[in-house]
Amino acid sequence: MIDRRGFLNVTAGGALAAAGPAAARVIKGAPDVVVVGAGAFGGWAALALRERGLSVVSLDEYGPANPRASSAGETRSIRAGYGAQGFYSAWAVKALKLWRLKEAEFGRTLLYVNDRIELADRWLPEMVAQRRIFDELRLPYEILDRDALRVRYPQMAFDDVDFAFVETAASAAVIKARESMLVVSEVFQKKGGQFRIARARPGPATGRRMDALALGDGGALAAGQFVFACGPWAPKLFPQLVGPKVAVWRSEYFYWGPPAGDARFSWPNQPAWHDHVAGGYGFGSLERGLKYSPEAGGRVAQDPDTAERLPTDYLLKRGRDYIGRRFPDMRDAPILETRACQVDNTANGHFILDRHPDYDNVWLASGGGGHGFKHGPLVGDYLADRVMGRPADPDTEALFRLASHADLGGGA
Ligand SMILES: Cc1cc2nc3c(=O)[nH]c(=O)nc-3n(C[C@H](O)[C@H](O)[C@H](O)COP(=O)(O)OP(=O)(O)OC[C@H]3O[C@@H](n4cnc5c(N)ncnc54)[C@H](O)[C@@H]3O)c2cc1C
Repeated sequence: MIDRRGFLNVTAGGALAAAGPAAARVIKGAPDVVVVGAGAFGGWAALALRERGLSVVSLDEYGPANPRASSAGETRSIRAGYGAQGFYSAWAVKALKLWRLKEAEFGRTLLYVNDRIELADRWLPEMVAQRRIFDELRLPYEILDRDALRVRYPQMAFDDVDFAFVETAASAAVIKARESMLVVSEVFQKKGGQFRIARARPGPATGRRMDALALGDGGALAAGQFVFACGPWAPKLFPQLVGPKVAVWRSEYFYWGPPAGDARFSWPNQPAWHDHVAGGYGFGSLERGLKYSPEAGGRVAQDPDTAERLPTDYLLKRGRDYIGRRFPDMRDAPILETRACQVDNTANGHFILDRHPDYDNVWLASGGGGHGFKHGPLVGDYLADRVMGRPADPDTEALFRLASHADLGGGA
């Protein structure tokens, strides 16, 4: 583990020395690191850096878990079922271990462990690959046929389903997302980190070193290193660099209220599910109702600052039709809440966790897409290690490298 002294060497000399004398500078009184963005990527990174003994400022223009952020939904799922993407299955297993440790440390219930079922009418290639990956990772799962599904989950209709891949509570859970991000920021501050509400953009630079951030109030904030963990805002902040590689799309989901006193549609009776037959995914109710996202709502670009968060008639109808079909006893259930959020997708779904190509002391973290939340604690550790000068596993580093992400060309 590299300590703060090692970090200062890296920041003031080491990796930056190649950039000349201007780079070899630690500004007195300035924090070691500023992390811009307090979502799942930035919030966990700020905490991990602080826990490694650095002085850290976490900035967010709207606050942690603000309703515009992708990390601000009530819930997000953790699953090892990743189709053919075994790298993320393995990461999800590691991340779940970290979530459990942190949950115990924070003293708050953040994980609602349960089965997660993938409904199918045939063995899709990605499900075949997923089964192989579960076997390789020795993760438990079941394959239930339609009759067995009817017995285990009588609240759901399976007429069009042939079988389900059932991932067990060993690798699946629903995470209280917004609450997690609030508690991460709270603990970061308790441990001596500083949080500020501020809008930041890249500021003046000397050679390959960024000297300071430019703040929205006209001020500046100097630091040893900077992490931009701005999720779906990254293409706006770095239009030339990140813009071509990240597409920001709108996503909607809805919460249906179960009948009074009826626990069938709530955790733990209702598992999280992914529907390969009728489309979309959902979770059992924790507080707000049975959650369902039609998911395939079309790839509509969304500006996270200015987009209205009202649902579209089209997706509302798709959602109602789906609930009536898959949960017949919820057919007339009221919608209690709707949310519109954005995913920041890369061409191949891999994250961007990399050093800025023009600056030795600037890091970029985005591209969480529709699956980044669960990996937050692991992303935080990965970024903290990189910022502190610890080399990454070369294969992992290559996956997350900005340059290895294809340009989307407006069509991916
Ligand atoms: C509908 C939906 C469902 C999803 N479901 C799942 C799931 O089940 N499981 C899962 O693992 N993942 C899921 N994801 C993905 C996951 O939520 C995201 O990958 C993750 O939350 C992204 O975190 P982030 O920190 O990159 O971005 P965000 O949470 O958006 O955080 C970015 C932060 O940066 C701040 N910011 C931006 N620009 C600036 C600036 N210039 N100055 C200061 N602050 C700035 C913003 O205010 C924001 O708080 C889902 C996403 C969506 C939208």
